[in-house]
Amino acid sequence: MLKDLNNLKHQKGDPIEITIKNNKIGRDYFTIIAGPCTVENYEDLYTIVSHLKDTGIKFFRGGAFKMRTSPYDFQGLGKKGLEYIKKVSDGTGMISVSEIVSIEDVELMSKYVDILQVGTRNMHNYRLLWKLGNVNNPVILKRGMSSTIEEWLSAAEYIIEAGNPNVILCERGIRTFETFTRYTLDISAIPAVKSLSNLPIIVDPSHSSGRREMIKSLSWAAMAAGADGLMIETHFSPDKTVCDSKQTINFEILSEILEKKEELLGLWGKK
Ligand code: PEP
Ligand code: MN
Repeated sequence: MLKDLNNLKHQKGDPIEITIKNNKIGRDYFTIIAGPCTVENYEDLYTIVSHLKDTGIKFFRGGAFKMRTSPYDFQGLGKKGLEYIKKVSDGTGMISVSEIVSIEDVELMSKYVDILQVGTRNMHNYRLLWKLGNVNNPVILKRGMSSTIEEWLSAAEYIIEAGNPNVILCERGIRTFETFTRYTLDISAIPAVKSLSNLPIIVDPSHSSGRREMIKSLSWAAMAAGADGLMIETHFSPDKTVCDSKQTINFEILSEILEKKEELLGLWGKK
């Protein structure tokens, strides 16, 4: 049975709205964040982000520091990647999202990136969460892959209690017995979070499914369920990407997803 979460001091009352560079996230707004899994070079990132801008999207993603399961996989371009992100963001006016993997990088990343993302593997890194209470950047807090909703909201509480109220939750799939998909997207987390917390909740259909052919369906499901946004791995040539190519969609699928946006968001009176 769903219980009241008495240990939440914050997250009460009406849904919050987060403003970043004149754009709003949460409550009446629906935010689409798209872009590559990782930043591979400046030119590709610029091409992707310019295209996203042309389709009316305002936010882009791209990892500079990657949390890979294997130490032998590409770990990201690091500081160079952050420089590319900042240059592309400054050049296009688009708002950037990138993952912070370590407490040592908080100062550096808060200067280069607009929205800091905490990945699933770091949701329990409480010292990192605490430190993110000191920055002005909004934080996207991904759900731990084996975390309950209560643990996830408690993790958000660390950032807020430490001084940063601008937390966006991201449902990115949890571990179940199913192996066909990479994880299992917990759509029910959307109404559950809405009933327990005032924070915006977005959905990542890419990492949850691990399958390109499922992204459109899961994105529509998230919109229909009342999510506040989507984060989708997108590239002009998904098969050529160095990481997560199987779950990365091209611009054609992205525009198919966007075709139903108004209709589905109309269910919730969102823009
Ligand atoms: C990501 O979004 O780049 C990522 C690694 O996601 P997650 O932490 O959910 O696996
Ligand atoms: Mn990825």
